[in-house]
Amino acid sequence: MEAQAHIFLYEAAALSAFAGVQIKTLDGNNGAMNPGDVEAAIRGDDIHQPETGLICIENTHNKAGGAVIPLENMQKIYQLSRDYAIPIHLDGARLFNASVASRTPVKEIAKYTDSVQFCLSKGLGAPVGSIIAGSSDFISQARKWRKRLGGGLRQVGVLAAPGIIALEENIQHLEQDHENAKQLAEGLQNIEGLVVMNKVETNIVLVDITNSNRTTENFINLLKEHNILTGAFGPNIIRFVTNNGITRNDVNNVLLAAQKIVNL
Ligand SMILES: *Cc1c(COP(=O)(O)O)cnc(C)c1O
Repeated sequence: MEAQAHIFLYEAAALSAFAGVQIKTLDGNNGAMNPGDVEAAIRGDDIHQPETGLICIENTHNKAGGAVIPLENMQKIYQLSRDYAIPIHLDGARLFNASVASRTPVKEIAKYTDSVQFCLSKGLGAPVGSIIAGSSDFISQARKWRKRLGGGLRQVGVLAAPGIIALEENIQHLEQDHENAKQLAEGLQNIEGLVVMNKVETNIVLVDITNSNRTTENFINLLKEHNILTGAFGPNIIRFVTNNGITRNDVNNVLLAAQKIVNL
């Protein structure tokens, strides 16, 4: 998987702890792994080496600022996965953002994978929940693992209901989130001392505040005093996300607040 993949960075080494696997990471370009690097990294029948059991792709790529992985890149890696008979998993926490931004149906993206996960929360606005999809065999195994991990729930319709609303009513809002993120990025870029780090393709804006003469922690706390919640994303980088419920007016308020903080 890519070196800045969420699964590698933020899941408490669940892959190693539960699946007993070692992760091999590759530096990507804007979140996308080079297919040549993927092929070179595949390890097989050598007594010294672990065998490659799975290829993972993250789309959109969070650490790369919500970057959309080009479909052509996914197609090439999919072809490799067929050539080497290695399954491919899509970490599609923000798959619908990728779909909307690239005007590509989710099934056209998911087609180049064997299994896919996506979040009903985050951009789609449900309070909780994620979906995993794959072949029936894969899903039977996943159900067993869910049970083992304590994930069997009762009266779960109460969680499914907002998930259905997320899918039926909230996909259509994503385009607006992306527009809002672009407006936000443009406005932040115009504030002296702030530099937008990413090409804003979806709903994430990464801002380097090195030249704002504030620390990241300080900047985030001051934003919080204006009821604006952001996250540190590296020593000098703050992540802003536009999602369900954030309006154009909110974006303007963020820009006013950021300007005030820089001027303090
Ligand atoms: C949130 C997130 C996850 C985890 O999703 P859950 O199913 O809610 O645990 C995985 N990958 C990425 C990129 C995420 O942002």
